[in-house]
Amino acid sequence: MKTSMGFTKLVSFVLVFHLLNPTVVLPSSLSSSNGLPEIPKRFLDFAKRKELVDWMVGIRRKIHENPELGYEEFETSKLIRSELDTLGIPYNYPVSVTGVVGFVGTGKPPFVAIRADMDALPIQEEVNWEHKSKNPGKMHACGHDAHVSMVLGAAKILKEHVEELKGTVVLVFQPAEEGGGGAKKMLDAGVLDGVDAIFGLHVSHEKLIGTVASKPGPLLAGSGIFNAVISGRGGHAALPQHSIDPILAASNVIVSLQHLVSREADPLDSQVVTIAKFQGGSAFNVIPDSVTIGGTFRAFSKASLIQLKRRIEEVIQGQAAVQRCNATVDFHDKPVPNFPPTVNDKDLHEHFRSVAGVMLGNDKVRDMKPLMGSEDFAFYQEAIPGYFFFLGMQDESSPKLSSVHTPNFIVNEDVLPYGAALHASLAATHLLKAELKLGSTEGNLHDEL
Ligand SMILES: [Zn+2]
Ligand SMILES: [Zn+2]
Repeated sequence: MKTSMGFTKLVSFVLVFHLLNPTVVLPSSLSSSNGLPEIPKRFLDFAKRKELVDWMVGIRRKIHENPELGYEEFETSKLIRSELDTLGIPYNYPVSVTGVVGFVGTGKPPFVAIRADMDALPIQEEVNWEHKSKNPGKMHACGHDAHVSMVLGAAKILKEHVEELKGTVVLVFQPAEEGGGGAKKMLDAGVLDGVDAIFGLHVSHEKLIGTVASKPGPLLAGSGIFNAVISGRGGHAALPQHSIDPILAASNVIVSLQHLVSREADPLDSQVVTIAKFQGGSAFNVIPDSVTIGGTFRAFSKASLIQLKRRIEEVIQGQAAVQRCNATVDFHDKPVPNFPPTVNDKDLHEHFRSVAGVMLGNDKVRDMKPLMGSEDFAFYQEAIPGYFFFLGMQDESSPKLSSVHTPNFIVNEDVLPYGAALHASLAATHLLKAELKLGSTEGNLHDEL
């Protein structure tokens, strides 16, 4: 504590000294008239250099050819480590099976993190191109290959500008975003201990290339799944009085579940309950013993998620009992808990707007409506302030890109330098602002200086 106070005073002294001595040149990154660093523009120019783009494209294609599912990203992780070795960036491995955590900067606080997810999806690629997936039934159909390449790109940019870093950037390469809750495992492994903020992005097939979109507060829904077995007593379909019909009971359960959102939830608090699975019976003339139903529920606050979960269980069991059936409900929330809502920190939203605005132009930084999809990045945001945003890939003059999670999904590789530069700039300027803030608290200085 004592040493840090001393350091604080030293920083404030240095800043005051600079102010009193106009001949002393401030670091170029601090000299912008509005107080914002020039870093975003310089980093984007750097990221667009041909050799860096070619390197990122090469990495992305290599990962695309060899997609690996959650917690099986061994080759992807190996590739990341070998690139970090080449860059001379130290890292921890293994973290949460295949995860890698690298460090660029002073090696000292403050710490700020940027994150990439590494896993692919169980989808057969239908895009015929030179670097098509070589693993049958597996595909990078969510763009995580591009996300890895962008964070490595950011690592390279940061390493090249390491003398400008006022702290340490933590590079988080996590496994198993697609339902495996890799973020939760990384968090439990302590990767964000002592870290002030974390940034994450997702490529967007809809938004235009060179644009970004996000919002403060809830951006993506929290989600849970459930599976219920409703058991009665099977028998001859012509003699229902000798059976307890689980099909009719399950039908009533499903109708009653639809009342949770329409009758119990605040209409201004968006929620979803969908029953997407109904399995029971196999003959025209046999009442089955049991029916299995399953589905998902979504909400934008943890309280609403907990309430939905509690009521789903009550309604299934209560309504099944009305029909003389038994019901068991499994939420599959162990060992991976339900995904919380992705909630963006308000101060980080301002930081994002200013950094992305300087880099891309303020008109390219869009507000967006929240989406009902979910992201395990939300686990990080439960622990520390975090910010998640979407990065456009759609070229105005090109045919519409296919959605994520489809066999025709394509990444427009022109997006890579934007992602790399945004990651690097958000992190580097966050460290810089932390230092300025330190100075301003002690020396009564402000960001505008
Ligand atoms: Zn996905
Ligand atoms: Zn994804």
